[in-house]
Amino acid sequence: MSLADATASTRPPRVTPRSAWRPEPGAAPALRGSVRDVIDLLRGGGVVALTGAGMSTESGIPDYRGPDGSRRVTPMTIDEFRDGEAGARRYWSRAYVGWNRFRAARANAGQEALARIQSAGCLDAVITQNVDGLHQEAGSRRVIELHGTLTRVVCVDCGARLLRDRVQAALTRLNPGYLEAALDDAGSIRPDGDVDLPLSLEHRFRVARCEECAGVHLKPDVVFFGESADRQTVQACYEAVDRAQALLVLGSSLAVMSGLRFVRHAAARGLPVAIITNGTTRGEDLAAIRLLGPLGTVLPEIAEAVSTG
Ligand SMILES: [Zn+2]
Repeated sequence: MSLADATASTRPPRVTPRSAWRPEPGAAPALRGSVRDVIDLLRGGGVVALTGAGMSTESGIPDYRGPDGSRRVTPMTIDEFRDGEAGARRYWSRAYVGWNRFRAARANAGQEALARIQSAGCLDAVITQNVDGLHQEAGSRRVIELHGTLTRVVCVDCGARLLRDRVQAALTRLNPGYLEAALDDAGSIRPDGDVDLPLSLEHRFRVARCEECAGVHLKPDVVFFGESADRQTVQACYEAVDRAQALLVLGSSLAVMSGLRFVRHAAARGLPVAIITNGTTRGEDLAAIRLLGPLGTVLPEIAEAVSTG
């Protein structure tokens, strides 16, 4: 499977509440500490990981941002999704086509290494901003999905939660031949699991109804841009950080407050914060340890060290 880069997106840029942060042009992280320091931190136990899109790029799911932190993909906002039938049709037509490719992504070496680090007793919980379920597939436990998951669908009308695969099957019954027609024209997959499609295709798409109440307001069980994360989930994240001895940030630019607030909370409590990413982050000043590197290389090295004592 080859999931192309998302830079081919043709959507016009939109201003959303989450797009306010911009890295300084040419800014580079001030690196400090070493892999050895991260290993020592983990051996102390009680570490909580906070992971972002950079954790899944090696599985072929693209990041919203380039290594310099600048946005290269503009996701659909909650206001666009709620824009009546047209909004729902725009979302589901694209997500329907993108789902098979998104679902085909497999856990990568970094995610598998993180699960081994947890098995070694060095990691308490994983807070993830990703909606792809790959940490769980890799074997991680106590994963808090801050932005929800694409594997579930929620009915806005009656609150029912449905499996995405069942909704996908219903969409196939409603739209025979659509997938085949769309795959010829689809753009590259995007971080939120959809693809760019021509308007002519989008307009003929039929959306599915809720199995429980027959309502048409089905929403993927994820936090859209412009929407707040679930309050109880946020609380669970704070509690995990409150119990932690250290915070390890992996593959997140921390561009959105949704994740950054936990790093600030940890730093304010005096916890050591370690950040490993491939690019600039908004949390540079908060990190006691700051490393660059592909997580698929760095994390296996760390897992090997903590597993062998
Ligand atoms: Zn319903």
